[in-house]
Amino acid sequence: MTKLTFLGTADAFNSAGRGNSCYLVEDDAGMYTVDFGPTALLQCERLGVDLRALDGIYITHLHGDHIGGIAMLLVFLHFKLERTRPLVIAGPEGMELRLALLRESAYPSVLQRGLGFPIEFVHWKLPGTVEALDRKVTAIRAEHDQLAVAASLRVDTEELSICFSGDTGWQPALADLVRDSDIFVCECSMASADYWGHLSVEELLVQRDQLKVGQLYLSHMSEEARAAAHNRVTELKAIIADDGLVITHER
Ligand SMILES: [Zn+2]
Repeated sequence: MTKLTFLGTADAFNSAGRGNSCYLVEDDAGMYTVDFGPTALLQCERLGVDLRALDGIYITHLHGDHIGGIAMLLVFLHFKLERTRPLVIAGPEGMELRLALLRESAYPSVLQRGLGFPIEFVHWKLPGTVEALDRKVTAIRAEHDQLAVAASLRVDTEELSICFSGDTGWQPALADLVRDSDIFVCECSMASADYWGHLSVEELLVQRDQLKVGQLYLSHMSEEARAAAHNRVTELKAIIADDGLVITHER
């Protein structure tokens, strides 16, 4: 069985009081999150997630709303949970430096003394497939800020294929990546298509038939996008995700 919890479904600006986009997945191989933004730890605590079970994080890209909570997570695991087993952080090239800068700014003395557990890094192949936490993860370069090194991800296990767009504008390669997957969590930041680096309700209405997936979920939404998506939800053939939504999938 696979359980997917939406820890956050807002865009970068916590629209309408929602958390930064972040997803928690529990399956036969264990527990991981996709990204870990500033509100992720808060949401884990609110929902009673036991982070002792957390094996690692899959990072879609190096923007604050997706990695900003990692410094707090590391000190939480170290001080509160007294973690000793390794934490795997899988993500794009360059993440070590960016995460070190984040930790250096947030908790320099903890960085100096060191954590009670090792961090093991795994790098995406863009494009390509790597093994991370006993799952096959296929990544493509997303249409987003170049310096964020953004990826769209497909996670395959024997039980399930689950995809995460990360932050991205439309590209045909996204439809290829998600084809025949069971679950696709797709960003939909905007109501209308006026920015190349994010998806919108307007574009998804045009491209919807290209997305051959079991169930489409929309997330990473502004208030305007959420309202527009609700108005067109039948044509979008999508579930509009909200913070705290939990779905389970059994094959
Ligand atoms: Zn974002």
